[in-house]
Amino acid sequence: MDSLPLQLLLGVGSVLGVYTIALELSTEQLESFLLGIGIGLSVFALGSVVTSQSYTNKTAEKPRSERSIKEAGPPQTPHHVHVLSQLQDMFELSTSQLQRIVKQMLWDMNRGLEKDNEAIKMLPTHVCHLPKGTEAGSYLALDLGGTNFRVCVFTLDGKGGVETRQSKFMIADAVKTSEGAALFDFIADCVKQFFVDHQDTLSNGVNHKWKLGFCFSFPVNQVSINEGSLLVWTKGFTASNVVGENAVKLLQDAFTRKSLNIEVSALVNDTTGTLMSLAYSKPSTCAGMILGTGSNCAYIEKIENIIKYKGSREGISEMLINMEWGGFDDTHIVIPRTKYDYKLDSDTPTPGTWTFEQLISGLYLGEIVRIVLSDLADQGDLFENCGASPELKKKNAFETAYMSKIEIDNSHDLIKVKQILEVQLGIKHTTLIDRRIVKSVCALVGTRSARLAAAGVAAVVTKMNKLATPGCIVGIDGSLFELYPNYQNRMRSALVEMLGMCADNITLEQARDGSGQGAALIAALAEE
Ligand code: ADP
Ligand code: MG
Repeated sequence: MDSLPLQLLLGVGSVLGVYTIALELSTEQLESFLLGIGIGLSVFALGSVVTSQSYTNKTAEKPRSERSIKEAGPPQTPHHVHVLSQLQDMFELSTSQLQRIVKQMLWDMNRGLEKDNEAIKMLPTHVCHLPKGTEAGSYLALDLGGTNFRVCVFTLDGKGGVETRQSKFMIADAVKTSEGAALFDFIADCVKQFFVDHQDTLSNGVNHKWKLGFCFSFPVNQVSINEGSLLVWTKGFTASNVVGENAVKLLQDAFTRKSLNIEVSALVNDTTGTLMSLAYSKPSTCAGMILGTGSNCAYIEKIENIIKYKGSREGISEMLINMEWGGFDDTHIVIPRTKYDYKLDSDTPTPGTWTFEQLISGLYLGEIVRIVLSDLADQGDLFENCGASPELKKKNAFETAYMSKIEIDNSHDLIKVKQILEVQLGIKHTTLIDRRIVKSVCALVGTRSARLAAAGVAAVVTKMNKLATPGCIVGIDGSLFELYPNYQNRMRSALVEMLGMCADNITLEQARDGSGQGAALIAALAEE
């Protein structure tokens, strides 16, 4: 039998199994229901593992030698080929490894829906309805993502269309790591500046009574749509007196201090915002994902599956779940880590945590490459003529954006790579072999990120039982997805490897600046 029909059969069979269990369920039997879901999903996932393995062996997974030559360019000296091959062994994830990751993620998602403080936090967002597309009016939104901070006004036309005005601000490290009130005062000052920037084109100015959606992309224990306390800072933020506090109140207090007439009506995570913003124009959006400074995902979950949810369930059939998947596999059960990943982790403010995000997101990829290059130089395998420069030894000196520029350089002499290494990173002299190795390292680190992100997508779509039917749109916001060459293709090929033809049922769609727009939409919905 062909592997795909077998896979579909197993998938449909296991889904039917889950529904059969659900029909016979009484409230007290919730635990066995969950077990049923677990078994159903595991069988489904296993089906995918077993069947798409044989499918992909024929089509997608390439033999290692073929991949190495493609990534590394024409052969180098035998020694350099050996160095690259060792790096490949460390960084490459095979199809079956990815499928194991998907299985583990499904398992952890179910645990997170049962109890607090699990590896994947699975936070209820209190957002229970997708937009209808008819919401209208002008709303303020703040998007605090990690690297960029945006103040926006979104004018919803009630027909799925949106007009946007925005100002972007950089948050200096000194502000990120200062006192909480100083951080929120800075945010309020940026809002004031926004109204100065847009005074000529906005019909309502700073004195209008604005409703605001606050996209605050950090793990929050949300108790209602406009109240939630920060669980932990991530992405390099450490501002004091914020963890454990209600982020809405901290922002509202700063607006009061700065005499701004703004009501914070919704607290939103960027993943939730991304999902909502794309759903405004595309109702079959079922998940929102971030591939920017950080990485995370939100999706639509049936309320009966959110065992730990303590709020009222009356009239609610589903709720968006903010997964906070950055903490997945912190105990290193399923994803192979390299010595370079351990080094990166040990230099973060909270070692041992958020390690999945470290393998994927923009804040960390360039730094992983820098650590690898610096190590290769120390071993005498790279920049043999001059060694590493002081700049290459500096933490975070290698921007993730360099990886994009390096990977897109297809010139014979790798001129752009030479420029980045010699001008930006101060390496005195590079050979073509050096540059090829650097390009290969970027490809390995970037590909691993894309394949892990795809494994996350596969887990989420499987969890929603949407693999077998067409039309599941995953909205993705963030510069990594938008700007990194080949990232989207790499994600897609990993999906095909893992899921076979079922991957065709998943659309990965860019939702540029979706986070802020979704926050404005949720503020609009909160008013209804
Ligand atoms: P935020 O996470 O603050 O919403 P972005 O979505 O713009 O902001 O993501 C910023 C991250 O994207 C940074 O970590 C940066 O390294 C990375 N990035 C920016 N430009 C590029 C690029 N051209 N290629 C790859 N990554 C990029
Ligand atoms: Mg963002």
